[in-house]
Amino acid sequence: MDTKQTSFRILMFPWLAHGHVFPFFELSKKLLSKKNFHIYFCSTAINIDSINNSLQKNLSDFSIEFVELHLPSLPELPPHYHTTKNVPPNLMPTLMQAFQMSSSSFSTIISNLKPDLLIYDAFQPWAAKLASSQGIPAVYFATSGATILSFFHHFHTHGNDNFPFPAIYHRDYEKKDMKAETGSIKVEDAAEGFAFGIFKQSHDIVLIKTCKGLEEKYIDYLSILCQRKMVPVGPLVAEAKNEEENSEIKKWLSTKDQFSTVYVSFGSENYLSKEQMEEIAAGLELINVNFIWVVRFHDGNAVGIDESLPEGFLERVKERGKILQGWAPQAEILAHSSMGGFMSHCGWSSVMESIYFGVPLIAMPLKIDQPINTRLVVEGGAALEIVRDDDGLFRAEEVAKAIKMVVLEKSSGEGLRAKAMELSQKMKMEEEETINEAADQLWQICMKNHDIVQSS
Ligand code: UDP
Repeated sequence: MDTKQTSFRILMFPWLAHGHVFPFFELSKKLLSKKNFHIYFCSTAINIDSINNSLQKNLSDFSIEFVELHLPSLPELPPHYHTTKNVPPNLMPTLMQAFQMSSSSFSTIISNLKPDLLIYDAFQPWAAKLASSQGIPAVYFATSGATILSFFHHFHTHGNDNFPFPAIYHRDYEKKDMKAETGSIKVEDAAEGFAFGIFKQSHDIVLIKTCKGLEEKYIDYLSILCQRKMVPVGPLVAEAKNEEENSEIKKWLSTKDQFSTVYVSFGSENYLSKEQMEEIAAGLELINVNFIWVVRFHDGNAVGIDESLPEGFLERVKERGKILQGWAPQAEILAHSSMGGFMSHCGWSSVMESIYFGVPLIAMPLKIDQPINTRLVVEGGAALEIVRDDDGLFRAEEVAKAIKMVVLEKSSGEGLRAKAMELSQKMKMEEEETINEAADQLWQICMKNHDIVQSS
């Protein structure tokens, strides 16, 4: 047996969404801090640029080599849409299709690089198959939580009934929660996609962006369902970047009292309807709360902020409210001591980041995994879900009521914050150990495969 190998090369291959690319990149950096890996990071040019722009240090400090993935050129999908950060919702299926069609370019990349290991994502079990066909082991890295994955997996294997955690599952899941403005997805389809194929291709273990302090029982249940050891890698919150524009926001936040401000944002892929935005604006006007609200429009729907908000709104709230168009330095905002709550769609990264910084959530889930992520944090005592009306819309009064209970009222808010802080501490205590464990496991897989190849 040859045990002299001192370095292994890992090829990282995330799906093109921001909420996948960045966790893969953070994981790369963390693995490099533990073991002598060399990392190839494969994504589209626009995603690679986006990572480069977010960096504090030079990329050469990290021993990460970017490898550009060329998507086929489709007339309706120019290269600036080769990421989900600004792609209009109607072009998402085309982006998915282009990504699938890039499998032959990816096959060439794998043949040229011959890495020791591939780390792949939920949307491309085909990449794992390509690697296996060339004798390269592949490990699935799940950027969603264990709760949603065990829910979908259970649904796929056992159907609708007997999900062992009733606080998470309830029967009106599809009827109401999934009827958001931004689109809907059938649980059956998601279950099929999530559970079929992706786990099966993963070599012995599955890495998952979570921590035991938040999801232990779901991690255990998922391990049983998918017959793979689930290895948590923690929240993977990106390091803060010190930029002028960000310090402007921090300066503004510093004028606000501790725990007095709500951050309102719905992730990197969601666009609210005009009606829903008006309800949120009206809700923010009903109570005297400080807020930062990130307002987003996609290319095909680029109306001005003024037109999309109630007349005179900006003027009326200018002392206590800040509207950011398009994008905000979320982690830095959540880390600020003035944060009293995060009104969020409860995308998995947002949930993890909020808990990491001990900020309670005011949940406004829109689609896919978000309703289930919401129930997890409500169950954990660190979130309050906004009640929606029978049409699935969030109305101003309920928005105001929920923000008031979390941010403005001591009796309810302090308990939620204490829980968020408690979970935050657990998360931070686990962080180091989980990355060590993940790096060890990956190293062993590489080593085992290396020995097999050497002896054959
Ligand atoms: N994000 C950000 N600024 C924004 C919007 C999003 O930094 O204005 C980041 C956020 O910190 C998180 C990710 O984008 O890391 C969004 O991931 P999440 O899973 O919450 O939602 P998704 O975009 O996948 O729906």
